[in-house]
Amino acid sequence: MPKRYCIIGGGIAGITAAETIRAHDGEGDILVISAEPHPLYSRVSLPAYVSGELERERVMMRTLRDYAERNIRLFPSERVIEVRPRIRGRTSGGEVKTASGKTFEYDALLIATGGRPVEWPHDEVVSERIFRLHTLDDALRLREFFNRHPARFASLASRRAGTPASLAKRGESARRSVGRVIVAGGGFIALELAEIFRTKKFDVTFLVRGPQFWSGKWVDPADHDRLTDLWKKNGVRAIFGDAVREMEENNGAVRIRTTAGRDIVADCVAIAIGIECEPDFVPRKILGSLASKNLEARLPNGVVVNKYLETEFPNVWAAGDAMRCAADGEPQGSQNWSSAVLSGQAAGMNMMGEYGRGTRKVFRLPPRYSVGHFGAVLKWENGRSFFKSNPDPEGSPRGG
Ligand SMILES: Cc1cc2nc3c(=O)[nH]c(=O)nc-3n(C[C@H](O)[C@H](O)[C@H](O)COP(=O)(O)OP(=O)(O)OC[C@H]3O[C@@H](n4cnc5c(N)ncnc54)[C@H](O)[C@@H]3O)c2cc1C
Repeated sequence: MPKRYCIIGGGIAGITAAETIRAHDGEGDILVISAEPHPLYSRVSLPAYVSGELERERVMMRTLRDYAERNIRLFPSERVIEVRPRIRGRTSGGEVKTASGKTFEYDALLIATGGRPVEWPHDEVVSERIFRLHTLDDALRLREFFNRHPARFASLASRRAGTPASLAKRGESARRSVGRVIVAGGGFIALELAEIFRTKKFDVTFLVRGPQFWSGKWVDPADHDRLTDLWKKNGVRAIFGDAVREMEENNGAVRIRTTAGRDIVADCVAIAIGIECEPDFVPRKILGSLASKNLEARLPNGVVVNKYLETEFPNVWAAGDAMRCAADGEPQGSQNWSSAVLSGQAAGMNMMGEYGRGTRKVFRLPPRYSVGHFGAVLKWENGRSFFKSNPDPEGSPRGG
């Protein structure tokens, strides 16, 4: 009987696993359940898409036809709400249930659900003026916003701009500004959002709860200083050690009161306060004893796996952002594209068992990561940061 593979999550980790399996197992029934309506796209390319550097065709990585040709059954816009790792009377396999009431049985299951943006208590207050950048739909919304609103914001900005003398005092950036945005958050996506809004001629202010970006971790103090210098050169303001306490709609703008007592008015707010990677549909035990909801420390959280990407349950694997690999002791996640590709490949091979080469594939977290920001490159290698003010011709401009 053909093996039934079920993959939850149609992102790069899930689709890489599905295609890896298909390359070796022509018979197996491969099912991908994905909460998003779109076939695979490049999340990494979303900032360039929003900025207008890339068109949508360049962001999309697969079409529905590609799945059909590989005989991969995609269920888009389906959210898994429950996983039952074992069915009574059977020693392996299990079933998953979706929000629309479908049930699928599996012999091998992959959890590749990535992460979801951390909820924000102020989300509902001025929802029309709050932006995130996690999905293609978020990117489409931002694109639409930038296409639709420049004139309106230009007039708002000029109403607030004041006299020519006060403009001159405030400098070039105020004269050129078409609006003001607060970017709340201190991580990679906050960097991306700040650069996008700056490209679109907004006045940008970071509001960072911690004393530094990444809560002071992962970047040397000297590199952090270089980063703040880079922002100054590019007209970006940064406020550290402060956060939004209250927010309200005020005369067509957003009024923010911060925990440190600041009163800030902006046209919109971009949120990048981290992602949660623990799926809410699996029994708690599957997450492993070391999985924790350590949001305070902003640690990547997720499904704990061993070096073969196996969870504590038989026939259940995890890959991509949703996974925390405990190969070297303390479980570690690395929320980046290369890690998602490599873990998707390894999980796909290991899920095949007898259909694969017979040996299990070991997964190792990639030791390097880099991001491009305002023409500079920030790199991490084996836990150390390196800042380069000129683009590295060998490195990826956006990161990886
Ligand atoms: C704006 C942005 C820029 C980035 N830039 C870079 C970069 O420059 N370099 C880099 O290396 N990385 C970058 N990343 C990170 C990188 O995109 C991720 O690490 C990678 O996409 C993770 O892949 P994944 O398949 O694990 O998860 P995802 O891509 O998040 O895919 C998971 C999928 O699972 C679905 N899902 C979730 N829950 C369920 C459920 N219950 N049922 C069904 N489906 C579900 C989700 O809707 C989603 O479609 C960026 C991320 C973003 C958002």
